[in-house]
Amino acid sequence: MEDLKALIRDIPDFPKPGILFKDITTLLKDPRAFARVIDSFSQRYVGQSIEAVVSIEARGFVLGGAVAYRLGAGAIIVRKRGKLPWKTHKVTYELEYGTDELHIHQDAISPGQRVLILDDVLATGGTVSGVINLVEQLGGRVVECAFLAELLFLQGRDRLKPAPDSAARRTHPRACC
Ligand code: AMP
Repeated sequence: MEDLKALIRDIPDFPKPGILFKDITTLLKDPRAFARVIDSFSQRYVGQSIEAVVSIEARGFVLGGAVAYRLGAGAIIVRKRGKLPWKTHKVTYELEYGTDELHIHQDAISPGQRVLILDDVLATGGTVSGVINLVEQLGGRVVECAFLAELLFLQGRDRLKPAPDSAARRTHPRACC
């Protein structure tokens, strides 16, 4: 995975001072690297009866669509305020650099569906926590959350560990590199 990691470009002070932005476009444009990433995610989840892959605006869509196709699952999109055309459920979430709203169509997931959540970067975990909330509002069962990269120093995965009193939830984070 080290060679994949080397293809992610670090951009200091974007979108504001103090943030080290992980630019995955340099990995996505490399056909072999992109294929390896999609293969890696697909191999992990094939046979796990994933019915829906939920991905997050906007870089997550590139990964989510490809993995959903490979798993024979539906591709579900979570978008920011004002982008989805039909009735939505929403959550307000915290980012490493601010707060925002995320929306999902109210009919995007059926109760009981097995869902994989996929995004490019796990930073503080605020975004994916919000997406878990949205999926659960619709009755979906989050099997796992997966990311292309994880900013370990922000300890976002700690927000995703099952609460002591809710052992049933299995939302273990998995980072590709
Ligand atoms: P967070 O909610 O803090 O885990 O942030 C994760 C979301 O914000 C993902 O959708 C990322 O695309 C984006 N993001 C946050 N921090 C960064 C970063 N340092 N580099 C690239 N993307 C980031």
